[in-house]
Amino acid sequence: MGFLLIGNFLGAQSLPLAQLVKETKGILWWDPYRNVGLLRMGDSTAALHPGSNLALIQGDQILDLLSFSLKDNVPSMDKKDWELLLDAMGRTPDQKKSLGDNYRVGAIIIDPGHGGRDPGAKATHTIDGVPRTLLEKDITLQVSLELNKLVQEAWPEKKIVLTRNDDTYPTLEQRVEIAHGVALKPQETVLFLSIHVNASLNTQAQGIEVWFIPKDYEREVLRNTQAHEKALPILNDFQNYEYKVESKNLSRYILQSLEVEVGKDFSDRGLKESPWFVVRMAKMPAVLVEIGFLTNSEEATRLADSEYLKKLARGIYNGLSKFIADYDALGSY
Ligand SMILES: [Zn+2]
Repeated sequence: MGFLLIGNFLGAQSLPLAQLVKETKGILWWDPYRNVGLLRMGDSTAALHPGSNLALIQGDQILDLLSFSLKDNVPSMDKKDWELLLDAMGRTPDQKKSLGDNYRVGAIIIDPGHGGRDPGAKATHTIDGVPRTLLEKDITLQVSLELNKLVQEAWPEKKIVLTRNDDTYPTLEQRVEIAHGVALKPQETVLFLSIHVNASLNTQAQGIEVWFIPKDYEREVLRNTQAHEKALPILNDFQNYEYKVESKNLSRYILQSLEVEVGKDFSDRGLKESPWFVVRMAKMPAVLVEIGFLTNSEEATRLADSEYLKKLARGIYNGLSKFIADYDALGSY
């Protein structure tokens, strides 16, 4: 009995992580599907993995927390380990960095779908009494060039890269390579934005969709890391999780902003999750915007109008802008 009491006094009792975090100014994200988490405390971040009792501080310092485990599926640890974790996070040199050293968006990749020998979706409609054949590759390029203009003007300090700026066909692998080839400073992240036009056998289908990567899709997202080998799978999990949260937030902002911009014409088909090749392979927050259905005559008529395409570009830009404002202020999500 006495031992139990002493144990409790020493903090040996395991407490839910959420409860421990509540007493601090920290923020905890938890992925219940894969039981990995991310704790943010000031400028310091810890990836948490109760399955192996490990915490990874700032991507390279590993902490063994013996009491850290899942109790009835709830990540928990005792006070002593909690203090160790806080101490380690406080002691990281990064905590002393100023706000300006936070992670920020350093580059934006704009990817106009298809091009060259690959026209993408194709449909012929009578517009203003004249039959016109519309190609997805032309529409995605127009919107992307327009978006590029807005983004260049807004953020001259960021690297803005188009995967194509004319009627050529980079392969999907080449597009991803272009994105990964962008030189970033240590604390910079890159966003990947792919623009497509939809098609369906159902000619009634119309509206805008924004796709991001599915929650349970495993990716190898790490690159150029100097982290300890033992930590790699965990760090990868953590990066995956953060990218997914970011991709979903970016998707939501873009969809909301498109709704504001083209409201009356807008039919919101919502956010979608899919392991599309480009979205899947991009080791960065990545979304794919389907700006409408070419197979629907009403929507095709809108998509044939360059003023409408400008509005779409403006909507995407506004969503991007909101995301970047949040991201650059917080240094992450
Ligand atoms: Zn497409």
